[in-house]
Amino acid sequence: MKIAFIGLGNMGAPMAQNLIAAGHDLTGFDTAATPEGISLAATAAEAASGAEVVITMLPNGAILRSVAAEIHPAMQPGAIHLDCSTVDVESAQAVASAATEAGLSALDAPVSGGTGGASGGTLTFMVGGPDAAYATALPLFEIMGQKSVLCGGAGMGQAAKICNNMILGVTMIATCEAFALADKLGLDRQSMFDVVSTSSGYSWTMNAYCPAPGVGPQSPADNDYKPGFASALMLKDLRLSQQAAEAADADTPMGQAALDLYAEFVESEGQGDTDFSAMLPRFEKRHRA
Ligand code: NAD
Repeated sequence: MKIAFIGLGNMGAPMAQNLIAAGHDLTGFDTAATPEGISLAATAAEAASGAEVVITMLPNGAILRSVAAEIHPAMQPGAIHLDCSTVDVESAQAVASAATEAGLSALDAPVSGGTGGASGGTLTFMVGGPDAAYATALPLFEIMGQKSVLCGGAGMGQAAKICNNMILGVTMIATCEAFALADKLGLDRQSMFDVVSTSSGYSWTMNAYCPAPGVGPQSPADNDYKPGFASALMLKDLRLSQQAAEAADADTPMGQAALDLYAEFVESEGQGDTDFSAMLPRFEKRHRA
C-alpha cells in the first residue's frame, strides 16, 4: 500500500518503521524529527499526495486540525486519513467531517501500549469511523498492533480511549493510596498484593502494573519509576476526559479528582517524566492534611 506518515516522534517513527519492514511504500514527514530508515517529503502535503492511506501521529487536536487542513486538499479521492494521535473527541469529529467534505474517509484510531507497543508492533487500536475504511486499514492495524476494535462512528475511538484512561488514572490513585495506608497500618505489601490481586479490589493497576517495587510482576516501580506511561501523558488524557465530560454534560467527580491530583503531581511537583505509578512514593511521604 502507498502510505504517508505524518508525525514521526516517539510513537510515529517505530510505527512507520514496522509498516516499511512489512513491505509498504511509505513516505514520512515531521517538522522536527528525522528518524532513520524513513524516506521524507519536504511538506506534509507532498507526503500525502498519491497516498492511499495518510497516517497522522501528532501531539494534540489543534495540530491535527491544522495538518488535516493542509493534507486533505492534496489527498487523492477516496483515500483514508487515519489519525492515531490522542486528541479531543471534538477535533476528531471535526477532522472526520472535513475529510468527508473533501471526498475522503477518516478513522480516529488512538492507541494504547506506549512506545514499547509501538516498536514491538503490539499496540491496541480503538477505532471510530466507517466500516469500509476500517476494513481497508485493518491490515495496517495488524502490522502495527495486536488488536483493533471498531467502536462506532467518528470520534468513538477517542471516546473509548479517554473513558479507559479515566478508569486507569482513578484506579492507579486508589491502588497507590491503599498501599500507602497499608504501610501505615503495618500491613506487609506482599500480603496486601496477595489478598487484593485475588479479591474484589483487583485491577490492572494492582495485578499487571503493581506500583509497589518488588511486588507482583515486573513494572516501572521496579525500574525507579521510569516510564512506562509518563504522568504528563496521564494528565493529558485526564484533561481530555474532563473536556469531553464538560461538553457532554456528564458528571465525573472521580475523573476530576484524578485530574486535580495528577495536575499537582506534574505541574507543582515536577513529576511529568515519572511513571504515573509513582503516586505511591508520593503518598508514602504524605500525611493527613
Ligand atoms: P512526540 O512528541 O514524540 O511526537 C510527535 C511528533 O509530531 C514530533 O516528532 C513532532 O515534531 C511532530 N509534529 C508536531 N507538529 C507537527 C506538524 N505540524 N507536522 C508534522 N509533524 C509535527 O509524541 P508521541 O509520544 O509520539 O505521541 C504522539 C501521540 O500519541 C500523542 O497524541 C500522544 O498522546 C499519543 N500517545 C503516546 C503514547 C506514548 O507512550 N508516548 C502512548 C499512547 C498515545
